[in-house]
Parts: sequence; C-alpha cells; structure tokens
Amino acid sequence: MTRTDELIAQAERWGAHNYAPLELVLTRGEGAHVWDVEGRRYVDLLSAYSAVGQGHCHPRIVGALIEQARRLTLSSRAFHNDRMGEMLERLAGLTGFAKVLPMNTGAEAVETAIKAMRRWGYEHKGVADDTAEIIVAAGNFHGRTTTIVGFSDEPAYRRGFGPPTPGFVRVPFGDAAALAAAIGPRTVGVLLEPIQGEAGVIIPPDGYLTAARRACAAARVLLCLDEIQTGLGRTGAMFAWQHEGARPDLLVLGKALSGGVYPVSCLCADDEVMGVFTPGSHGSTYGGNPLAAAACVAALDVIVDEGLVERSARLGAHVLARLRAELRSPEIAEVRGRGLMVAVEYRQPVARDVAHALAAAGVLAKETRGVTIRLMPPLVIDPADLDAALDVAIPVLDRR
Ligand SMILES: *Cc1c(COP(=O)(O)O)cnc(C)c1O
Repeated sequence: MTRTDELIAQAERWGAHNYAPLELVLTRGEGAHVWDVEGRRYVDLLSAYSAVGQGHCHPRIVGALIEQARRLTLSSRAFHNDRMGEMLERLAGLTGFAKVLPMNTGAEAVETAIKAMRRWGYEHKGVADDTAEIIVAAGNFHGRTTTIVGFSDEPAYRRGFGPPTPGFVRVPFGDAAALAAAIGPRTVGVLLEPIQGEAGVIIPPDGYLTAARRACAAARVLLCLDEIQTGLGRTGAMFAWQHEGARPDLLVLGKALSGGVYPVSCLCADDEVMGVFTPGSHGSTYGGNPLAAAACVAALDVIVDEGLVERSARLGAHVLARLRAELRSPEIAEVRGRGLMVAVEYRQPVARDVAHALAAAGVLAKETRGVTIRLMPPLVIDPADLDAALDVAIPVLDRR
C-alpha cells in the first residue's frame, strides 16, 4: 500500500463521503505549484476554486497570519479588537461601499445578504411581513446551507434536504427580459453570480448585468452580486461587475479574501441596506476576528501590490487564445472565459476522465457538472509555468 492509498483509506474510513476527490493527496504548496505525498509536483489550475488566487502559502499572507496568531486570535464580537477596523476600512475602500459585515464562509455571507435584503424590503419598501421574494438564477451556486440549496436547481445539491425555504423565484440565467418580468410587488432583491462558476463558467450575454441593474433600480429592488468566486481579480477586473459598470447594492465576497489561509467572507453595502442590522440581529463567533483581519489585509495588499488584476486579464487572454487556436477535438463544444476564469466544455460527460488524465500529466483541474473542465490558476502564476502547463494540458484536453 502506498502512502497515498493509506491516507485515502483513512479519510474514507472516518470521513463523510460528501466529496469525490481525485485520488491524490497533497502535502505542500508554493505559488502555483503543489506537491503530493509521493513527491510528485503539479501545476494547480484550480486554486481551491479560486480561493488561492494569491498562490499557495504566499509568504506575506502567511507571515501576517503567524505574527497575528502569536498576539491574539479571537476576541469574539463581545469586545472590539485592534485589527478588525483596518480590514473593514480596506474593504470599504476597495469595493466603494460604505459598510462591511465580516463573516467566515461564503455561504454565511450569502445568508447575510439574504437577511439584509429581506429586512430592507420590510423596513424600506413596505413589503408585508414574511412575504418577501428574492429572484435567483437557474444554475446558481451560492453555497450549501439549507436555505441556499433550497433555491438551487441542481438535484445533487438539494435532493433530500427539503422542505425548501419559501420566498425564492428562479429565472433563466442571462435572460434580462425574464428577470424583469419576474419582478413583482413583493420582490425585494435579485441575487446573481456575474459569471456562474460552479455551473461551468457560464458568461451571460453582454449587457445582462446592466439590464438587471436597470430593472432593479426601476422597481426599487436590490441587486446583490455574489462575487465569492469572480471577485478580487479572477475575471481580469477587481470585480466582475466592473466589466459592465453594473454596481450592485450588495456585494458578497469570500474565497480569495484571505488568499486561502483562513475562511474570511463579507457582505458590502451602503448605509440604507446595512443599517437594517441592529445589535442582536446577526453575528458570528469568528466573524471579524483578528486572525482573519490580518490575513485579509495582507491578501488584499498582495492583489494590489503585485498587480494581480491586470495579470489576470493579460494571462487570461493568452490562455483563451492558445486554447482556441490549439484545441481541435470535435468532442469540445466550447471554450470560454474571462480573465483567468476559463472553461472547456465537452459535448459528453467526459470531464471527470479528462481531470484524471490531467492529474496524471501533472496538471490539476476539476470537472464541474460532468461536461466542463474549469481552468483557474493562481493569479500569481509565472507566464512560463502557465505555458508549460498548457503544453501538457492541451493534448489531454483535446483527447489526443
Ligand atoms: C464557493 C462559492 C460559494 C460558497 O462559499 P463557501 O465558502 O464554500 O461557503 C458561494 N457562492 C459562490 C459563487 C461560490 O463560488
């Protein structure tokens, strides 16, 4: 039995089987590379679903985390701590919103946004108590809590977890007319991913976000964008909404907010929306803790100081150009992407086989929804490493 077999057997023996990981066991990471327990090196083209945008174990982020861990890790919100304010100020400055509410996981921040939109609807729009509706998109992925999976249309996410929380209406993604038509007197918000990540990097038609923005403003409905995956440079802009200038009323961030060293998420909004939260109405033991704040500030510094947004735009265009020029297989239905958020979609559900073959060749990527391979390298990846990874990956992706 290899070390890999032993470790996988241990995890499967004792762990819930709520994931189906590829059969390799990682033990170390640095920048765009990871190593498994057998000493094999891989180029990481998944980046923990974009959470490791700054690269694995970025020394500046790890350094900030270690230094803070020696001083104070958790104060709870029963008291102030000397790191949280700096994180909130930095996030407000970066996003252009007046207020920030820190949480831990992405799903929690989405739940925070749902609570904010509902209470805003009752307090500011005059919607009758407990009747608010939020419009969501088909193919959405916003996390795994009971409320969130209740408005998913992916059977694997929702089957057996009902009854679904009421108050959500689903419309086709990318169809601005359908979205506008679904808005009614009880609609308080629209919750969208600017580009759907888990659904397979689904990019809506140009003008969709602008039209959604306009429809929401006209009907006095809040637009909430979940940029947990698309935000912080992934799509070649700091935030994907900036591609269309469709500034949301609520912005949800997570994943790369800490560069992959610690769970940090947040909701950003202006005063009217964030003002619905009063003491006791929301919270989290770990939300806004000093360790999270230290990691978050360092993670944001890295994005800005290393020019990762511009890098994502430039390298992403290069990846897309190479894939479009070099992939020829008739099995491939489409290659698409924005910045370093790229996908290869197949006509048949072969993506899991492709992911296995890529890993065997030293390139890590993951299939999503059976037909799509998502390519999302750390934004810090060296261009030469990226090209070397593509040299290896392209014949595999092309099923040669
Ligand atoms: C990953 C993700 C989430 C959920 O984040 P967790 O930290 O796993 O709870 C929500 N929305 C989007 C768009 C995501 O990509």
